[in-house]
Amino acid sequence: RRKWRKVVNVLRELEEGCDTPVGRLKQVVDAMAVEMHAGLASEGGSKLKMLLTFVDNLPNGTERGTYYALHLGGTNFRVLRVHLNGQRSSVLENDVERQPIPEHLMTSTSEELFDFIASSLKEFIAKEGDGSNISTNRRELGFTFSFPVKQMSVSSGILIKWTKGFSVVNMVGRDVAACLQEALSRKGLDVHVAALVNDTVGTLALGHYHDPDTVAAIIIGTGTNACYLERIDAIIKCQGLLTASGRMVVNMEWGNFWSSHLPRTSYDIDLDAESPNPNDQGFEKMISGMYLGDIVRRVILRMSMESDMFELISPKLKIPFILRTPLMAAMHEDNSPDLREVARILKEVFEIPEVPMKARKIVVKVCDVVTRRAARLAAAGIVGILKKIGRDGSGGITGGRGRSNTKMRRTVVAIEGGLYSSYSLFSEYLHEALNEILGEDIAKHVIIKVTEDGSGIGTALLAASYSS
Ligand code: ADP
Repeated sequence: RRKWRKVVNVLRELEEGCDTPVGRLKQVVDAMAVEMHAGLASEGGSKLKMLLTFVDNLPNGTERGTYYALHLGGTNFRVLRVHLNGQRSSVLENDVERQPIPEHLMTSTSEELFDFIASSLKEFIAKEGDGSNISTNRRELGFTFSFPVKQMSVSSGILIKWTKGFSVVNMVGRDVAACLQEALSRKGLDVHVAALVNDTVGTLALGHYHDPDTVAAIIIGTGTNACYLERIDAIIKCQGLLTASGRMVVNMEWGNFWSSHLPRTSYDIDLDAESPNPNDQGFEKMISGMYLGDIVRRVILRMSMESDMFELISPKLKIPFILRTPLMAAMHEDNSPDLREVARILKEVFEIPEVPMKARKIVVKVCDVVTRRAARLAAAGIVGILKKIGRDGSGGITGGRGRSNTKMRRTVVAIEGGLYSSYSLFSEYLHEALNEILGEDIAKHVIIKVTEDGSGIGTALLAASYSS
């Protein structure tokens, strides 16, 4: 009995540690907007890198032709082809082939990784049944690369660091597009890398193609990141930068955002310390799919060590990342009266037999607390961006106009990623928090649009815009 009280105490402590009342979320909003400013003011001015993308024009629908994209995400790899006929919202046809990234390639050499990518493209092209695979026309390709890159131009950029568990040797500091171009040549492919694109930027490009009110894009999958359209004169660190549109897409790399207002627990501290990139990607480690399951595992482990919740302490509970986020989501969303999915998954993943009902309920509650915090923090991040560009209904932090005479414009944010699109409680909590922070009058002007394969298709669109 006394031991059960300990379990309840661990839960209570977790709830307190993860608490995100709207007041705290607003502090995170402000911190995000302030850090965005700092990151734009000077190189290294903030944990937010606020990277230039050199994308100054988003696709507008007049693009024509056939373009390719390769997408290297956190867990998946995709090859796709898009046919465009010059009319908005009619991406004529797109073929996608997806596969999980073979795990050994995440820590292989760069040649192995890029040879794998080039081979996949070669096979994809070889399957084009209409004989066009022997055409002599050079193909134009965009490369979606969802890691931080310092771009030199739309089609070149050097890797700043790996994230999401990747650690391919000898890549940091090298031009990612050139590595791919060399691998394509080694395979004898006449394909030109016309654009090197962060996945968020691809998502923004497709969002904007379909709806010109789209001003920002968020990815919440294995990792998390955001980009948005900024005025060129606000990018103070690059004085003299000129674009015809007067704007440029900025890749925030918001996974590395940090603020003392973030609700951090001992589980977060331990997870960070034991990760391959300690003190790095702090926001990502509280929000994204790579980590949520492991936070839950750490809480359950603590509970089982402090009590006889499961009768025995399963050694599997001590294995990092053994609980993947999709299974955590399945436990969280178990609607059966006896929570049999929860019991099944605990048995399957941790080899814990016969979990009593009240322990099942506690596990669901742990999932809820961890996911709710993640979704609410992501919402605060989104509002932080809106605040920076004066679309949060408050007149912006640079604009002097008061709330009363600022008319809120329709504002679309494109979202993509498995955590957001497949975990419905996550997206519900995110929307709820947006309403709380903005107030319903403002929130109704903010439209969250899910794109699918947007990052890949958008990258093919950018290849079209920038290949000529
Ligand atoms: P990536 O971010 O790897 O490029 P995705 O955007 O498809 O690719 O995101 C995949 C990630 O989304 C997975 O690693 C997982 O963390 C998360 N995810 C996928 N499906 C679910 C689900 N049903 N519930 C919760 N999280 C999920």
